[in-house]
Amino acid sequence: MVLTTVADSGDSVNCTFGSRYLRSPPPKFKLGEQSIPKDAAYQIIHDELMLDGTPRLNLASFVTTWMEPECDNLIMASLNKNYVDMDEYPVTTELQNRCVNMIARLFHAPIGDQEAAVGVGTVGSSEAIMLAGLAFKRKWQQRRKSQGKPYDKPNIVTGANVQVCWEKFARYFEVELKEVKLSEGFYVMDPVKAVELVDENTICVAAILGSTLTGEFEDVKLLNELLSKKNEETGWDTPIHVDAASGGFIAPFLYPDLEWDFRLPLVKSINVSGHKYGLVYPGVGWVVWRSNQDLPEELVFHINYLGSDQPTFTLNFSKGSSQIIAQYYQFIRLGFEGYKNVMENCRENARVLREGIEKMGRFDVVSKDVGVPLVAFTLKDSSKHTVFEISENLRRFGWIVPAYTMPPDAQHIAVLRVVIREDFSRSLAERLISDIDKVLKEVEALPIRVSLAEVKARVEDSGRVRKHVKKSEREIEEEVTTYWRRLVDGKRTGAC
Ligand SMILES: *Cc1c(COP(=O)(O)O)cnc(C)c1O
Repeated sequence: MVLTTVADSGDSVNCTFGSRYLRSPPPKFKLGEQSIPKDAAYQIIHDELMLDGTPRLNLASFVTTWMEPECDNLIMASLNKNYVDMDEYPVTTELQNRCVNMIARLFHAPIGDQEAAVGVGTVGSSEAIMLAGLAFKRKWQQRRKSQGKPYDKPNIVTGANVQVCWEKFARYFEVELKEVKLSEGFYVMDPVKAVELVDENTICVAAILGSTLTGEFEDVKLLNELLSKKNEETGWDTPIHVDAASGGFIAPFLYPDLEWDFRLPLVKSINVSGHKYGLVYPGVGWVVWRSNQDLPEELVFHINYLGSDQPTFTLNFSKGSSQIIAQYYQFIRLGFEGYKNVMENCRENARVLREGIEKMGRFDVVSKDVGVPLVAFTLKDSSKHTVFEISENLRRFGWIVPAYTMPPDAQHIAVLRVVIREDFSRSLAERLISDIDKVLKEVEALPIRVSLAEVKARVEDSGRVRKHVKKSEREIEEEVTTYWRRLVDGKRTGAC
């Protein structure tokens, strides 16, 4: 007994790395029997997390990776505030309402100066999209019921470039997703084809302001025009939702004359990610409706707070308050001027990166000048090396640059994509250009004896012969890259 006590107290005076906790595996499947010291717990987790990528070098993501220390302080101070306790934290609720009002007016909602806008803070655009989708589905059902028509086959029309959360919405809430196919060189929804897909069961057409794949803005104005015509001819009332997850905080500052928002009469709701170009850390999104007629009353829950009515419409109950508070900080700290400056810098740094990549002569840039500041590019000639190989090699320098294939019918196109965020400065852009150049030269210097076509044929063949399953293009691409790398590594070590 005495010896055990001595050993335990020894542990508490030992330095963390000299203690027994750092030489035994941490619990992975079952709750540990005993407690461990707080510094050991901290060290174990902190150190394992070092092997994650560095968020600021994660050029795959639109989500904010840097905020001012003053805002970090506000965030830390509100970590223990449950957002849903509106009665207890009325000021936090008030800040949310102010944010909704500011966003709705930024998007030109037709409301009076003193009128409250209709909208809500969400965990991200995904929750926002579920809510907007539900509102459309319910409105459509009400209309069909009142006309005595069947209301069991709702559908939604989007481009094949939609973000996965729309597929989730469709599956979870039983709405058929009708996707407009893409084609080589055209990676966003074609409004003409979209309107052709609209029928009496269409609850809405969802347009994307800032396609996830290329950053390109879809032509919402043309969509509004064509859909209005179709509505007139058919007597339907098909509305538009704009998924402005990334573009909602870009277009108002860089392209104020572009009409994509509530200035277009068929646009009934818009979502935007506060944690993307709203410049807040992950965990906040927004959905705003044109007016309260566009949000069916039966979906809204009314909470009585401090004697006044606080309508709520969310999927979850408890959540943190920090991100809402941080959003309000950014709005009053930056104002229109601040957001404009940040977005202009992003656009300028995207331009520098784009030009640097074009100058190498090996890539075609597929992203457009107007849109979300990102650079998406393909290899002109991928008969010897693939974009997947380049992505893998950039990891060695710390850069995380994703490579992926396009959706149908452009899945034979594979691209690399660099998202330019606020904290990606000119000097990082220049370093990235030089590192891409280095990687290109390295892969090109390797002797190639087997052609890519041969490797591809082998991979496809092995899929057919061994597994009797047809592999997707993406799987084949990935296997080709793996196979290729093994081959190349082998050569490097002289093993092949
Ligand atoms: C990021 C994104 C989403 C999903 O948004 P979250 O805020 O990550 O939930 C939806 N649509 C588009 C176009 C996006 O870029």
